[in-house]
Amino acid sequence: MANYKYFEKLKKSLAGGVHYNFKTLGEESPKYFKKGQGSRIWDIEDNEYLDFYAKFGAMILGHNHPELNQALIEQINTLIAVNHTDQEVAVCELIQKYFPSFELMRFGLSGTEVIQNAIRLSRAYTGKTKFLRFEGHYHGNMDNIMGGKYNDVSEIPYPIDFTGDPRGTKGRVPGIFEKESYLIPWNDLEKLKNTLELYGHEIAAIITEPALINGGGIAPKEGYLAEMRKLCDQYGIVLIFDEVITGLRFGLSGAQGFYKVKPDLTILGKAVGGGLPVSILGGKKEIMQLYEKREVVHAGTFNGYPLGLAAVKATFTILEKDHQAFYHQADYYCKEIKNLFESAAASYGLDMSVSTFGSMLVFNVCQETPQSVSELTFDTVLKNSILFHTLPKHGILISPMTRLFLNAMFNDEDLDFFKKKITVAVEECALKIENVYNGQLK
Ligand code: PMP
Repeated sequence: MANYKYFEKLKKSLAGGVHYNFKTLGEESPKYFKKGQGSRIWDIEDNEYLDFYAKFGAMILGHNHPELNQALIEQINTLIAVNHTDQEVAVCELIQKYFPSFELMRFGLSGTEVIQNAIRLSRAYTGKTKFLRFEGHYHGNMDNIMGGKYNDVSEIPYPIDFTGDPRGTKGRVPGIFEKESYLIPWNDLEKLKNTLELYGHEIAAIITEPALINGGGIAPKEGYLAEMRKLCDQYGIVLIFDEVITGLRFGLSGAQGFYKVKPDLTILGKAVGGGLPVSILGGKKEIMQLYEKREVVHAGTFNGYPLGLAAVKATFTILEKDHQAFYHQADYYCKEIKNLFESAAASYGLDMSVSTFGSMLVFNVCQETPQSVSELTFDTVLKNSILFHTLPKHGILISPMTRLFLNAMFNDEDLDFFKKKITVAVEECALKIENVYNGQLK
């Protein structure tokens, strides 16, 4: 009740009582939190949650991590924000140690903003204007890149479909997609080749999540990213990996380290600051040098702010400790969670496919792990949504709609908590789904 009352009060001054919204996706009644420790958070009604939401994956160290806090306090006592400090070389070298593709880099605050900067750089570097993106991938909330469904590229101008798309927004510049980009399905090499044959001469950049976490937890097909790399070289296209999610989640070297494909430009965000806002754009010297030569503008009041850099340094330092123990533990816990999840679902006759990607899991309430966005049927999305809304009632908070992010303080007690709660949560979910299909739920 306190949550609801607070929500009603807050709505009078904060639009919608929340900090973000898509068009159709929303929490039924938002929760307001007052405390966090490790993997747990408590709302203002004293309800306890296992926090797999982790602020969209950013909280890779968990809540109240003593070493991160210590580093931040030291930085606060020294300098919060000036243009440059004496710690920058150390931070850049730490990133280069794990991301050799970052020959040069720049810092920002959000994924959205540095993605736009990466596109601008690609245009300047190639002298071409369009970019190619993929269905189901999310690259920030700007007009030119958010949402839409694939329409065959052979139809020109190929209208982009927004039916039922939570990322379809009013107020967008009309025709911006058609003017700036091509949108095709991911994981389909033939379609990629065909599109490039037709339009490669206009395309400055291809931007992709190296594993499709936003679009349902889909791994790239064997060799797909390597072929994309080759095609970019063939057509003189800048390959951009959006590793805002995959970045530190796959491992300290990101999905590019995991799949062994080197992009020209990369964007890191979310977890890279351990919960503080930091994004990083890094890549090939000859592209990034356009900044050095002042041919391309990159601005931002808080770029490289010392408190953020201290957070990046602390995050890498904590995650690399004890031979990167975090990733080994996360691997173990992810497998345990997957098994518990799938067996709870099996005992209530619910189809469930859970995929693990380093320190995160993505589930789909369906039998087979989807290989493409088109395989995510209306049925699956509806069932996913029911589970997403049911889990918090049982103390399990997950990231929209189907993602679970682990953190460095996750422990056996958290696993036990999950074990205790998941069966009842799945039972309730199975019942709700049955009711929906029997037409009983309004
Ligand atoms: N790229 C990806 C892959 C993302 O998941 C997100 C955020 N969900 C973004 C870009 C945008 O980052 P931000 O919200 O920091 O602008």
